[in-house]
This record gives sequence, structure tokens and C-alpha cells, in this order.
Amino acid sequence: MNFSADEDFAHQLDAEDPLNHFREKFHLPAGADGKPFIYFAGNSLGLMPKSARQIVEQELDDWAKRGVDAHHGAGTPWYSYHESLREPTARLAGAQPNEVVCMNSLTVNIHLMMATFYRPTKSRFKILMEEPAFPSDTYAIKSQIVHHELDPKEVLILARPRKGEFAIRQEDIEAALDKHGEQIAVAMMGGLNFFTGQLFDIEKITALARKRGCAVGFDLAHSIGNVPLALHNWNVDFAVWCSYKYLNAGPGAVAGAFVHEHHATNTKLPRLAGWFGNDPNTRFRLHLEPEFIPVPSADGWQISNPPIFSMAPLRASLAIFDEAGGIEPLRAKSIKLTGYLQFLLQQNSSKRFTVITPRETNARGCQLSILANEHPKELFKKLETGGVKCDFREPNIIRAAPTPLYNTFHDVWRFAKILTEHR
Ligand SMILES: *Cc1c(COP(=O)(O)O)cnc(C)c1O
Repeated sequence: MNFSADEDFAHQLDAEDPLNHFREKFHLPAGADGKPFIYFAGNSLGLMPKSARQIVEQELDDWAKRGVDAHHGAGTPWYSYHESLREPTARLAGAQPNEVVCMNSLTVNIHLMMATFYRPTKSRFKILMEEPAFPSDTYAIKSQIVHHELDPKEVLILARPRKGEFAIRQEDIEAALDKHGEQIAVAMMGGLNFFTGQLFDIEKITALARKRGCAVGFDLAHSIGNVPLALHNWNVDFAVWCSYKYLNAGPGAVAGAFVHEHHATNTKLPRLAGWFGNDPNTRFRLHLEPEFIPVPSADGWQISNPPIFSMAPLRASLAIFDEAGGIEPLRAKSIKLTGYLQFLLQQNSSKRFTVITPRETNARGCQLSILANEHPKELFKKLETGGVKCDFREPNIIRAAPTPLYNTFHDVWRFAKILTEHR
């Protein structure tokens, strides 16, 4: 694609964008001057779909008017509320409907998946992760190791960028699998690294790790709703994600989990159980049925009854993804949007910053991570003052994530102007 740095060109791209009307479906936070921010923080908290309010109010009304009867009698009955999220979630995850369930929050789901998939033995006890991983993932995995009375120093294998580089080379992940594969119980990677914006080759890593007998899981917090996924066909064993980033489901929204059909239908797999993972036919026999009989699908990992108020906005948001035609057209726009940002930053390249996200479109999602070489806080401040919402990660990384649902090419143009102008 040939880009131009003219402001008119940005307007032209917006006019030609078949998805441009989706921006109106979101509330755009604005500054004191009433002008909407250039909101590039969708990798942290996605914007509120306008349709979320009505759907949440509906649940409040059902509670007010029906009380306990809303469990079965509401428009979307609470008892099976999670089922209303299943199909649209499966579409974004590239999964079969019986392989996904929306439940809990992300880090909790990491623990639940590890309870099933991390069963260390004398010969196979290691865990492969990437560095830097999101701190919560590191805490969770280390505590899992300690929970099994093992030593994280002996168990954790970290694939990390080489000195002077930022992305992790695929060959280095492969080298770690070659060296430790026979001892790795679980390879647990981010699908897209939160810090550098690097998108990993999930399919290839999965194939290579599984060939060595490892279970393979991915944290898709920064992948789902951002890049196309085909978890079923890629044979990923399990995956987890949150819904408040690119899925725009609101703060602390219900998270998701994927368990591949091979495992999801295997009711013999060990897990941490609760009544909503139990066969619905016997669930309400309560004290009469002390035996846990898991649902033969990803639902079998559910523990508690569904949190309606944290699920309702996700219904609104997933409907928007479907309306946009799913992730493929969004990704096509996203590649253009982020490619344009990359182009503009390169046009105005300066010693003050370096983009550390891989340049290849298949090795990144919408986020660019910008390393400030000098005065990082001042550079970030300049963006804030200019009406940009993005974030700063210590010591010197600015993360900017133009999202295809509600950002424009003109947002990108303005962002680049603010970042690169000398003042
Ligand atoms: C956002 C994010 C989290 C946050 O975890 P919660 O349990 O939702 O608070 C964890 N891991 C990764 C990789 C993330 O990007």
C-alpha cells in the first residue's frame, strides 16, 4: 500500500473505509475542551459500545421486576446466560462452540487451566514462557509451580529477545523446545506480547511443542478481537483471555477460556470443580448428588453461576463484531491503520524514538510500542497534552493501539504529528 503523509490523504482513507460508521457505535471519551481523545488505549480498556447501556438496563429491569424468576423467565435467562456468548466468542477464537466458555477473570482462568494441564512428573515438569510476560501471568505460573512443591528456578524456561533486540526470534523459541521439549509439561505463551506488540506464530509453536509431547496454552488477552485466531485447527490445547481490552466489554468483564475438543469432551480430566461445571440435568439435585459429573464441553470447567452484569456488555460488544463481518474485515482495516502509523513515524523518524514492534504485518497486531530514547516522560506528556490516550510502560515504552472499530486514519495522522513535531 502506498501511503502519503498529507492530511488530505488521511481523510481520503477514512472516506473510503467501509467500516468507518462503526465509530458511532461507541462512546468516545473527551477532554475538557469537549473534543474526543485520540483513543489508542483499546489494548488496555476498550471503549463502551453505546448498545451496552440498554442491555445492562435490561438485566437490571429483569432483576427489579422478576427477582429470582429471571433465572429462567428473563428475555435472556440468567441460568444459561453464558450460552448467549458462546457462538460469537467461538467465531472470534476460531473454535467450535463446545470449546469455549466465558467465565471468571483472566488470571483465575490461567489457574483453572493449569490445574488441568500442569500435572508435573519427575521427567516432565518444566514450563516454557516468554519474557517479558505480563506480570500476572508470571505470578500465576510461579505460584502454580510452588503449589506443586517445585522450584521456579528449575522449572521455568524463558524465551527472551537477544541482546539489543526486542522481539523474540521464532528460532529461539524452537531452540528452547529442542533443548527442553522432553521435559516441558506446558508451553504457556502470550499470543501477542503485551509489551512489544509482537504476534507469535501460534500455529507453528503449537505444532512444534505438541510434537514433543508438551501441552500448549496461550494467553490471548492482546490477541482476541485484534487478530484472526483458529484455535481449533491449530490444535492449541487451551487458551484464556480477558474481554475488556479489544473486546470492549467493560472493566473487569467476564473472561474467556478455550479447551480443545480433544480435552473438552474428556470428563475424566482432573480439574477444579464447582456446580456450574456439572451436568445441568443433575445440577439442581444439590445435596442428593455428591458426585461431580462434568459437562462434556468447555462448560465443564465453569465453577460458579454466570456474573450477569459483567457478561451483559460483552453481548453488546460481540454483536458489533458480528455486524462488522467478523475479525477478517477488521483485521484488513487494522493492517492498514497500523501500517499507516508505521509509515508516518518512519517518514518523520527521529533519534528521539524507535518503534520496537516487528514491522512485518504477520508479526504484529494493531499495537505499536514506541521506545523513547530520550526524556520518555516528556514525550508521553506531549501526547497527553495533545489529547492522546495511550499508555506508558516503565521505563521508556509508549504503547499506542489504533483499533479498527473506532479509530480513524485521521486519528493516526494526528497522533503521528503530535509525536513527531519539534516543540
Ligand atoms: C491484561 C492482561 C492480564 C490481566 O489479568 P486480569 O486477571 O484480567 O486482571 C493478564 N495477562 C495478560 C497477558 C494481560 O494482557
